[in-house]
This record gives sequence, C-alpha cells and structure tokens, in this order.
Amino acid sequence: MTAHRVPFDGKFSIRDFSCDPPGSAPSKKELEAELADLVDRLDKLQQRLFADERFAVLAVFQAMDAAGKDSTIRKVFSGVNPAGFRVHAFGRPSELELRHDFLARVGQRLPERGKIGVFNRSHYEEVLVVRVHPQFLAAQNLPDAALKRIWDERFESIRNFERHLAANGTTVVKFWLNVSRKEQKKRFLERIEKPDKNWKFRLGDLDDRERWEDFQKAYRSALAETSREWAPWYAIPADDKAYMRVAVARILVATLERMDPRYPELDADQRRELDEGQRRLGKE
Ligand code: AMP
Ligand code: MG
Repeated sequence: MTAHRVPFDGKFSIRDFSCDPPGSAPSKKELEAELADLVDRLDKLQQRLFADERFAVLAVFQAMDAAGKDSTIRKVFSGVNPAGFRVHAFGRPSELELRHDFLARVGQRLPERGKIGVFNRSHYEEVLVVRVHPQFLAAQNLPDAALKRIWDERFESIRNFERHLAANGTTVVKFWLNVSRKEQKKRFLERIEKPDKNWKFRLGDLDDRERWEDFQKAYRSALAETSREWAPWYAIPADDKAYMRVAVARILVATLERMDPRYPELDADQRRELDEGQRRLGKE
C-alpha cells in the first residue's frame, strides 16, 4: 500500500502531496459503492482480529480543524463490531496529565490484543500544537535540560514508542487528513451557517488557522521524522470527503489483510467437544 504513503527516509515534501484526489479517482457514486464494500471487509477482518487475539491495531488521525477526522472515523468504522473497537479523542491535557511525561496519557488508552483502537488526535499534538503555541509547552513545566533539543528528543521518543508497540503485536497506522486552507474556510463557514453544525464552531479554531504556515511546517517535520516502516504515515487528500474515506478504508483493509489474523486452530479436545455437541443436539 504505497499510495499516499509518506516516505520512510525522512525526506517528505508537502508539495508532493495534494489536498485534491488524484485525477484517476473514481466518480462519487463509484466511491460510495467502494466504501460500502470496504466497510464490509473491515468488519470481517475485525472479526478475525478479535478471534485471533494476537494483534491489536492502532489507527491515529491528525489534521487541522474541519478536515473531517470525526466523520471519516464514523464512516470508515461504521461496520465494525463496537465490542472490539474504541475511539479516544485527545483534547487539552488535564492538570494531572500535564504533570506526567507526554506519552503517559496515550499509553493508558492503547488497544489490547484483538482490538482496534482509534486516536482522534494523539501524542502527535505534542509536536504540533505544542510546538506552534509555546504557552502549551510552558504549562508542562519541564526542566531546562529537557528543553534543549526538545523536538528531536520527542521525535526519537515517538519513534521508539511506536517501534516498541509494533514489536509487541500492535500495528500502528497513521493518517494525516490533508485539507487545504481554502476548503477549511468553506467548512468553517458551513459550521457558522448551518444550525446543526453550529456546535462544532469555536472561535479559537481561527487562531490555529492564522498560524497555518507554522502548522504546515510542524506537520512536515513530524511526518518526516516519524513515518517509518513499523508505523507509516499516510497523507490523505481531504478536500473531497468521499475520496478521503475510501483512501483511508483501503489502507486499513490492506493493513489488516497483511496482518492476516486467523481464527484459532482447534486442538483435539475442542474438536471432540464439537463432535459431542453435534451428537447431543442431534438426539433432541
Ligand atoms: P477538538 O479535537 O477540535 O475537539 O479540539 C481539541 C483541542 O485540543 C485541539 O485544539 C488540540 O490542538 C488541543 N490539544 C490536543 N492535545 C493537546 C496537547 N497535548 N496540548 C495542547 N493542546 C492539545
Ligand atoms: Mg477544534
């Protein structure tokens, strides 16, 4: 699965990744049909993952506001069994969270074997919003020594953390929903104009919009430094929602297919139990 994948060698140029779907993308109608099929396949793969109990999947979603994180998660995972699936949204850290190291709160929300965990925002906020707005870093009260090479240190911590997860059975896959500044404006205006979307609008979101270029730089460096074979980033064109959903779903399906979770093999005792069950039910 190499479409939209951020290279693993640290050389990532945002300019090579479009906010628009490729020219070869299917029509809206075809995309909707494909999504329905992918949602179904994801459901079947999740059942195998659940039964297998050896692996977990962690899917990370990061993006600017209004790029479509919530709706993409809702649509792509609409077919999976909620019992084997959990979404966690990370907002501003609490007082207590601020007193811990920056990976502590994500460590508590990781999916266990057999499950799919989704992070709507994640530890990456620690090298994105925290990098762009220095007051968030100040609130963490770190000693001077920790501040010296802080971003390089954080990238290294994140690479090691994700490598550790991968080595212990959690497949990590990360999506940056790449929305354009122009499309974000359109979606913000929609949030202001449509009563059922008003609740999503926060004036504070415009502060991040005003720092657009700084965020782009922070994304560039975070993705370049942390897209690795064991935890790839995908930069998904986000200006067209139908395409974005299909692109994410294709990658998840391919990722799970590569993991190839299996129903556990029955041992002799379990086979005997099946035979016995069949015999007893046959007698009723
Ligand atoms: P939303 O996801 O739109 O509900 O907003 C959550 C807000 O919390 C976003 O503005 C994030 O940038 C912010 N946020 C998430 N994690 C952190 C963090 N570690 N430090 C500061 N702000 C954060
Ligand atoms: Mg927001």
